[in-house]
Amino acid sequence: MPHRKNFLLNRLEPTILAQIEPHLTTVEIRHQEVLAETHQRIEKVYFPHSGIISCVVELVGGGAIETGMIGNDGEFGASQALDDKVSLNHVVMQVTGKASVISSDRIRVAANELPAFRGLLVKYEQFFVSQVQQTAACNAVHSIQARTCKWLLRMHELAGPDLELTQEFLAQMMGVRRTSVTEVAGDLQKSGMMTYRRGRIHIVDLEQVRAWGCECDSDIRSHYRRIFQSNESAR
Ligand SMILES: [Zn+2]
Repeated sequence: MPHRKNFLLNRLEPTILAQIEPHLTTVEIRHQEVLAETHQRIEKVYFPHSGIISCVVELVGGGAIETGMIGNDGEFGASQALDDKVSLNHVVMQVTGKASVISSDRIRVAANELPAFRGLLVKYEQFFVSQVQQTAACNAVHSIQARTCKWLLRMHELAGPDLELTQEFLAQMMGVRRTSVTEVAGDLQKSGMMTYRRGRIHIVDLEQVRAWGCECDSDIRSHYRRIFQSNESAR
């Protein structure tokens, strides 16, 4: 079943997933496709199989900063759909991929009928909030070099060693000047950690990227493990 490519859906018991499956469709979402606009109602909930969804806070004076990344370990839109709330972020596909999609109306019914499904979505929301908090602390305190490495680690985890993205885009996501990212990218290339050619990054030495990154990536991963392990022992 393709829906099991998403780790959250894969955690569901077969009998529970079987009840949700008729309402799921699989779609491909292209790079830069917009999944939700700030302050608009959420119509669909996405459970990625591959690729990366990026949640971006847009600032009134122009500019934007990424506060959360979602891959096949998560979903976008469920907590807003359950409460019939609007999106707080501009949500965009950062790396092309596939996802299982369900309408907001359907997921509300399914969550009411299936407490185990609702429980899983609530757990993921707890994780997502912890990721946003860690990112806020990281943006305030850690160097651009450390943040760039953290960003590459997370992208590598979700999309592998070959990433299609421009330095312009990376700078925008990190909320820093493009020249700062160019400088850091130059240092990473000189150290042999990655190559960068025509909008494509290839990560060569993952261990070195990890050594230069801040602790935030591993902290976020351990939040995830803690939250979902406690889910399992409760089941
Ligand atoms: Zn950090």
